[in-house]
Amino acid sequence: MKLRFLGGTGTVTGSRYLLSDDHHRLLVDCGMYQGVKTLRRRNWASFPVDPASIDAVVLTHAHIDHSGYLPALVKNGFRGKVYCTPATHELCRVLLPDAGYLQEEDAKYAFRKKFSRHEKPEPLFTVKDAWEALKHFESVGYHQKFEPVKGMEVHFTPAGHILGSSCVHVHHKGAARTVVFSGDVGRQTDLIMRPPEPIEHADVLVCESTYGDRLHGETDPEQDLADIITKTAGRGGITLLPAFAVGRAQMLLYVIHKLMSEGRVPRMPVFLNSPMAIKATEIFCKYHQEHKLNPRQCELIDDKTQFVRTVEESIQLDSVRYPCVIVSASGMASGGRVLHHLKTLLPNPRNSIVFAGFQAPGTRGDALVNGAAQVKVHGEYWPVKAQIHNLDSMSAHGDYQELLAWLEQGSLKPERVYITHGEMLASDEMRKRITETFGWPAEAPELFEEVEI
Ligand SMILES: [Zn+2]
Repeated sequence: MKLRFLGGTGTVTGSRYLLSDDHHRLLVDCGMYQGVKTLRRRNWASFPVDPASIDAVVLTHAHIDHSGYLPALVKNGFRGKVYCTPATHELCRVLLPDAGYLQEEDAKYAFRKKFSRHEKPEPLFTVKDAWEALKHFESVGYHQKFEPVKGMEVHFTPAGHILGSSCVHVHHKGAARTVVFSGDVGRQTDLIMRPPEPIEHADVLVCESTYGDRLHGETDPEQDLADIITKTAGRGGITLLPAFAVGRAQMLLYVIHKLMSEGRVPRMPVFLNSPMAIKATEIFCKYHQEHKLNPRQCELIDDKTQFVRTVEESIQLDSVRYPCVIVSASGMASGGRVLHHLKTLLPNPRNSIVFAGFQAPGTRGDALVNGAAQVKVHGEYWPVKAQIHNLDSMSAHGDYQELLAWLEQGSLKPERVYITHGEMLASDEMRKRITETFGWPAEAPELFEEVEI
């Protein structure tokens, strides 16, 4: 059996791994590249193997950097099935059409502004392509064994990262070998997600390394957030939280309402301005048995949050000048309605912008947490006068200590570990730590590298 790294090497986006034997090809994750332009450009290169030659796809979770290329894969000839957990399936029904919509908008914008090399710029895929891709989906619950291609038996175990997220275990019956893909791995103690389930066996492990060179720190993120919101409101300002529509948006809303009900933050309006996050919150509440919040706590999010659905409501919210909290997507401020709020809120020192997750290099979020004096939004530069906070202790990824603790919990003894899904330095640090801690041979593969397993 061969494993080829078609993405997710030297970067946290574009996860795509191809398993193949003499008869079949199985793709694990089919992510889009995000962040700096050289990476985003890779979305437009032709897929490194003919999509029609891939027999099936298995997804670790719904985030776009793991699922977002699927509509393009189908558009370019993939005819097989896409397997994932039921919650991942439901979340993809929200995320993929939205990604198609953004692609269409980008193409229209490039056409209007004439900055495309093409006469009529085409989107990478459309909303219609996304729905077409969704017809290929099939849901399988955690721990249930299935054979997406003959001879390769697969099952999912909970990864604790976002709703529906999983580690993918692939057992090649003929070769009697098991490869496990960690996907994105959650925290040992997360506010809303249960910890990732330990992995009991893998001959080969493909492990993420988003925080391979970092720790989340000892401070209490709830208290940090309480302090920021209270101080900001005290000076008459607004706290804006750019958040991933799936995962962190629900966590932040829960924490904010909890802080308010405990009297640790003064009561003020809380807005969720992201149609996608609103839908994701509904799905999150529906699957309450898969996370830590009970139906009553989910209701609390639902009852106390003001959902901003229409464009008109969003524009109205932008003119609000009283203390409030706004949660809006996207989490790295690379697109979405949060951009409008940034334009209004950044130039005023009374306001606070709070990031609560990993900021990929090249994104506005990364520029802001690194102290940029101005950022470009919609073609214009905006001065950064608001206070910028980076609470990455609220991230949905375990840091390297948590990852090592998780790996230690199982009875793992892999022959080899491949470190992916990290910036180059983070992956390399993770590689060293795994080898030093467990004595397992580990390496960070290069893009398109193929290994025999
Ligand atoms: Zn993720």
